[in-house]
Amino acid sequence: MKKNTFLSILAALLVTACSGSQQPSESQSDALPDNVYCVKKFQIYGIQDHDQTLSAELFKGYNDSLLTQVMPTGETEAGINVFLVDFGEFGYILFDAGIGADKGGRLMETLDSLDISPNEISQIFITHLHFDHVGGLFNPDGTAAFPSANLYIPQPEYDAWSSGKMGDTKVVEMIDRCYEGRINCFTPGDTIDSVLCLVTIPAYGHTPGHTIYNIEDVLIVGDIMHAVALQLDHPEFCARFDADPAQAVATRKAVLDRARTEHLTLCGMHFPRPLTIKF
Ligand SMILES: [Zn+2]
Repeated sequence: MKKNTFLSILAALLVTACSGSQQPSESQSDALPDNVYCVKKFQIYGIQDHDQTLSAELFKGYNDSLLTQVMPTGETEAGINVFLVDFGEFGYILFDAGIGADKGGRLMETLDSLDISPNEISQIFITHLHFDHVGGLFNPDGTAAFPSANLYIPQPEYDAWSSGKMGDTKVVEMIDRCYEGRINCFTPGDTIDSVLCLVTIPAYGHTPGHTIYNIEDVLIVGDIMHAVALQLDHPEFCARFDADPAQAVATRKAVLDRARTEHLTLCGMHFPRPLTIKF
């Protein structure tokens, strides 16, 4: 699609989104953002970096008959998602970076369709260090995909991976090498001086330092749920990916309770299209 055609679609999406309260728009082709929201003066772009279908096998061992009822086909639709926020004076900011172009990630293609150069990404906030969230930090040749970006990583997450507690330390070594001098580890719960309207929230359990982000009435929730169709109503189910299942369940319940009480919009890194849920 030509960029001018795309821009007129984007303009229409923005008008739709800004005239209502964060209504998701229709899905676009794979290289385009799935939706655009306006939150006060900010615009949030939901980008499905890669398709994903998850097997029911990952959720076995809790209540298998209920699992079969909810997932009769034995699988559920998910996704690998990235959220891009146009923070105006603070620049373009990414939340996670997807799986990486060499594994089929569409983030770079989508940024190109938005006429945004990787150099214009000023900051990247990481929910956790699983590779489907940080693979997109690197070009296929092993160099930094975002040469001007400052990285923000939760300190307990960085520590867990660099100590070997999470297994392979390769991902931290790659980050250290590619983003040397631009890595900022923070304590979840802190506000970030460079983006004052952003609140970081500890949401441990999936990984030791898993962190979510609050902007106005939006929560960017990382891997708080892997199978929305199941875990939204049954948060007691964990995917096998959750490192500390009991803690992950408590965190999931707390985040969902808060979203329901405060009528928040959740942006999830594995939510199926339209990538968000408004409560
Ligand atoms: Zn994930």
